Amino acid sequence: MKQYDVVIVGGGINGCGLIRDLALNGVSTLLIDKGDFSSQTSQSSSKMLHGGIRYLENFDFGLISEALEEKNLWLKLTPHLCFERDFYLPLYNYSKYSPWMLGVGLFIYDFLSHFQNKPFAVLNAEETLKKVPSLDPQGLKGAGKYFDGVVDDAKLTLECLYDALLEPNSEALSYHEVTACHKTEEGYEVTYKSVFNQTSVTVKAKYVVFTTGPFTDQLLPKLNIPWSPQLVTSKGIHLWLKKDSIDAKGSVVLTTKDNRVVFVIPQRDSVLVGTTETPVDQEMFNIKATEKEINYLLNVLKQYFPNAPLSKDSIISTFAGVRPLVKEEGHTEALGKVSRFHKIFRPDDRTYVLLGGKYTTFRRMTQEIAQELVPRLGLTYRPNLTLNHLRQKSIMPTFGVKPKLTIEMVKEIIRTEKVTTFEDLVSRRLSIVEELSQLKDVMGIPVEEVKALFRA
Ligand SMILES: Cc1cc2nc3c(=O)[nH]c(=O)nc-3n(C[C@H](O)[C@H](O)[C@H](O)COP(=O)(O)OP(=O)(O)OC[C@H]3O[C@@H](n4cnc5c(N)ncnc54)[C@H](O)[C@@H]3O)c2cc1C
Repeated sequence: MKQYDVVIVGGGINGCGLIRDLALNGVSTLLIDKGDFSSQTSQSSSKMLHGGIRYLENFDFGLISEALEEKNLWLKLTPHLCFERDFYLPLYNYSKYSPWMLGVGLFIYDFLSHFQNKPFAVLNAEETLKKVPSLDPQGLKGAGKYFDGVVDDAKLTLECLYDALLEPNSEALSYHEVTACHKTEEGYEVTYKSVFNQTSVTVKAKYVVFTTGPFTDQLLPKLNIPWSPQLVTSKGIHLWLKKDSIDAKGSVVLTTKDNRVVFVIPQRDSVLVGTTETPVDQEMFNIKATEKEINYLLNVLKQYFPNAPLSKDSIISTFAGVRPLVKEEGHTEALGKVSRFHKIFRPDDRTYVLLGGKYTTFRRMTQEIAQELVPRLGLTYRPNLTLNHLRQKSIMPTFGVKPKLTIEMVKEIIRTEKVTTFEDLVSRRLSIVEELSQLKDVMGIPVEEVKALFRA
C-alpha cells in the first residue's frame, strides 16, 4: 500500500494552496478531488481579491486588513491572473450613507491596506455618470471610488497546484472520490474510487486534511470521522452578460432593496454580475442557478440601469456556488452578515478540517495548518516559501492579449495542465464563459476537432 505523509481531500483553492505549501516544505502529499480541480466553489466566486468593503459595517477590521494584504500580494505575484480594478459605489438621495460617511468608510478601507490600495475618491453625480453612463441619473448624488482586485479564481487554484507538482513527492488525482477513511495506529487508510470506472485504491497517510468546503458536513459523517455540523451553507449565483448590455468603464457596487450588495464587474470581454444569498437544501455538487435567482439579479440591474438594453438575451451564461460559512454559536444574522472568518477543526489527532474564510485569504488559512503539520512530520517549516512566484503559468492567459489557439497548443495544455475532460479544458484552462452546449468553436477551432482529442 502506497504511503504519504499527508492526504488532502478537496482540490479547491484551499486544497491546492495547502499542497503547494506542504510540497515546498518537503512533505509527501496526495491531493484528491471528486471532480476537476477548482470545479466547485473556487471557480464560482465573484472573482474578487478583496478586503470586503461591506464587512466594514460588521467592524471585521482584522479580516479586512489581512485580506487586503493578501490581495496586494497576489496582484504582485500573479499579474497574469489578476488585475486591479476601479469600483464605484453610487449614492442616491435614498441611500443609507451620505457622501462624507462614505468618504470616511473608504478612508478606513485604504488605511487598513496600509495605503497600499490605489487612493479612493468621492465623485459628484457628473463625474460618476462619466464613469458609469448607464446608471440612473434620477436622484444620483455621486459615488465612492475605490480599488480591489479581479482574479481568474479557477486558474489561480490550478497554478498553485502546478507549482506544488513541480516538487518531488507530491501527487494529485482529479475525478476520484474519497469513500472511506480508517484510523490506524500510524494515521489513516484512505480509500478513493474513480468516478469513471469505479476502481478503488487504498493508501496510507500519517495525516488527513479535509478542504472539502461546503461538502464537509455531508461528507465527514459518511467517512466515520467524528463530526457535528459546523456550516451555514449559502448559495450565490452569477451572470455573465454581453459586454454592451451595460455601459460601465469600471465596476459598480449596487445596494439592493433587501440591503445586500450586487457587483457589476466588466472583465474578459463580458460583464460579471453577482451575487445572491439563499440557504441551500439540495445537492450542492455542480449546483446551478434557478430562474428565480436569475430574475432577482436582472431586477436589481433594471432598478439601477433603467435605460440599458437588458433582457434575458443579454445573458451569456450563469454559474452558482455555495459559501462554506462557519456557524457561530447564538448568531442568527442574515446570511450576508454571517462572518467570513475561518476555523480549523481537529476531529482527532490525525485529521484537520479547514472551513470558512474567503478565497482571498487562502494562503494565510492553509499556512496555519502547514506550520503545525510540517514540524509534526520532523521537518522545519519555512513560512516564506509561499511568497515566491508560481513557476508554471497556464498556456492560455485569461486577461490581456491572447495568442491564437492552435490544435498543438490544445494538445500541450491537455498534456501539462491536468486536463481530463472537454469541460476542464474549455471552462478552466481556456477560461471561456459561454455555455458549453452553445459552443460552435473553441477559440476558432471547430468543437468536434477539439472533442476528438478526448476520444483518442
Ligand atoms: C457566490 C460566491 C461568491 C464568492 N465571492 C468571493 C470573492 O469574490 N472573493 C473571495 O475572496 N471569496 C469569495 N467567495 C468565497 C470563496 O469562493 C470560497 O471561500 C472558496 O472558494 C472555498 O474554497 P474551498 O477550497 O474550501 O472549497 P471548494 O472550492 O468547494 O473545494 C472543495 C472540493 O472538495 C471536493 N470534494 C468534495 N467531496 C469530496 C470527496 N468525497 N472526495 C474528493 N473530493 C471531494 C469538491 O469536488 C471540491 O472541488 C465566494 C463564494 C461564493 C459561493
